[in-house]
Amino acid sequence: MISKGKLITELIVPGGHGRAFEVGKGQLLEIVDVEGRQVADFFAFRKQDHAERLSPSHTRTSLRSLAIKVGDSLRTNWRNPMFEVVQDTAKIHDLLIAACDERRYLVDYGVLNHRSCVANIEEALQPYGIGRDMFLEPFNFFQSTRIEPDGTLIQQASPTRAGDHILLKAEMELIGAVSACPMDLNPIGGSKITDILVRIYDQ
Ligand SMILES: [Zn+2]
Repeated sequence: MISKGKLITELIVPGGHGRAFEVGKGQLLEIVDVEGRQVADFFAFRKQDHAERLSPSHTRTSLRSLAIKVGDSLRTNWRNPMFEVVQDTAKIHDLLIAACDERRYLVDYGVLNHRSCVANIEEALQPYGIGRDMFLEPFNFFQSTRIEPDGTLIQQASPTRAGDHILLKAEMELIGAVSACPMDLNPIGGSKITDILVRIYDQ
C-alpha cells in the first residue's frame, strides 16, 4: 500500500478541455481516468527553465521500451529524470502519437473549428508563457495504440475502466498540463469524451 501523503490540489479537467498546474519536487501527481476510456494528453516543463521538458522519445530511448511501468523513470529532453512511475492501474499508455491539433481535424477529417489538445494546452499554459512551439510530443495516458509486426499503428478504444490512474513522483519543480482529449472522430476515446481528474499530494 502506497502512502500518498496529504492531498493539496484536486482539479477536474473537463472532457475536451485542458488545465495546467504546478508540482513540487517530491510531490505525487495522480492522473485519474474518471469514467474510463478517456485519453489524457500530458506535457510537463522544468519550472525554472521551460526549455527542458518531458520527452517521450528520450524516455523511450532511456527505457529501451515503447511502454512504461512502475519504477520507470520518465526523462526530459536533457535526459534528466522528471518523474518516477509509482503506481499504474491502467497500464495502457501511448508514447508515439502526436497530440491532436486543428490541422489533425481539418486535414484528416475535413472538420473546421474542432477543439484540440494542442489548443487546450496552449490556453492552459498561456499564464506560464509557454507557447505551442515549446510543447512537441505528449505522453498520451490511457491511450491504446497497437503495433502490428509490420509496424502498422492501430489506434483503438482504450480498455481503461472508471477510476484507473497513474501516480507519478516529481523529481523536480515543474509545470504540468493535461488535456482530456476531445478526439471523437476515431475510436481512441470510446463512445464519449469525459473528464480527467488531477490530484497532487505532498509527502
Ligand atoms: Zn487530443
